Amino acid sequence: MTPVPPRIDVVCLASWNADLVVRVPRPAARGETQFASDFEISPGGKGSNAAVAAARQGAKVALLARIGDDDFGRMALALWQAEGIDARQVTVATGERSGVAQIQVFDDGDNSIAVYRGAGMGLGAHHAQAAESLLRQARVVMASNEVPQACTLAAFAIARAAGVTTLLNPAPAATLPDGLLALTDLLTPNEGELRALAGAPADAPEAACAATLLARGVGRVLVTLSADGCRLHTRDAAAQHLGGHRVPVVDTIGAGDTFTGALAAALARGEAIASAMRQANAAAALAVQGRGAIAGMPGRAQVQALLA
Ligand code: ATP
Repeated sequence: MTPVPPRIDVVCLASWNADLVVRVPRPAARGETQFASDFEISPGGKGSNAAVAAARQGAKVALLARIGDDDFGRMALALWQAEGIDARQVTVATGERSGVAQIQVFDDGDNSIAVYRGAGMGLGAHHAQAAESLLRQARVVMASNEVPQACTLAAFAIARAAGVTTLLNPAPAATLPDGLLALTDLLTPNEGELRALAGAPADAPEAACAATLLARGVGRVLVTLSADGCRLHTRDAAAQHLGGHRVPVVDTIGAGDTFTGALAAALARGEAIASAMRQANAAAALAVQGRGAIAGMPGRAQVQALLA
């Protein structure tokens, strides 16, 4: 008898990096050395974060990623195993380094970040093609701009041909070709990314920017609005706004990743977009009450309790 393959709800084209976080009083001047008051290593990378968020909402998640054969790569594998994420399509690249983000957090709460994407930069179209059967059986395929575009394009083309929903978090902001926009069913920019993608000035109206992207071929645009929640723009209906939850914020690191991951999990369960938005908005509001990207990410019961 042929073994039944495990059900996969969400395939995430994932970036991974270890966040190396130091706390220093202020940005150093060129050539200056400062003593840091604290040092932490924590999991990061928009793709990995969103995958964890989706898994905590009950989705069966599989990753397409590339990591190095180093301690930070082993840290990623341990995290994904602990979160029940299928990492069988993850390539461990011999002799390469995993991604790292050097993060300095200043006394005023601001930060500066340098990301070295390492082995993740080697994720290409052939990795998507090799995972074709996995991509075709998913309900949702999601990516961010941290993944090389060639991989996202190839994976979204396979997903589109199989009727699988494609979800792109266009972060960090970058220009995107029309070919990729046309393969994207749902785009989740924040306000800055929306305007950058539309090639519009910082004070351009949100609706006009969303209309530009819809005209370039995106299925739907769901703009995240930080404490104000999110707003959905489509071609044929008025924009739908969902207000943010009023919550005590510890930090907003990973808010967008939690939003995207929870959205993917809800869509993969077959929920309508309005319901998926409510779940994502609630999950992200819970996440901002915890420190760092992963620590505050809620489980499904917490989201249901907030929405009850
Ligand atoms: P980040 O880069 O910090 O991960 P982002 O810029 O991609 O986030 P935001 O629009 O800031 O995205 O936040 C994503 C979602 O998180 C919002 O749509 C909202 O649901 C939730 N959120 C963010 N900040 C708050 C807040 N202060 N209070 C409640 N919910 C919030």
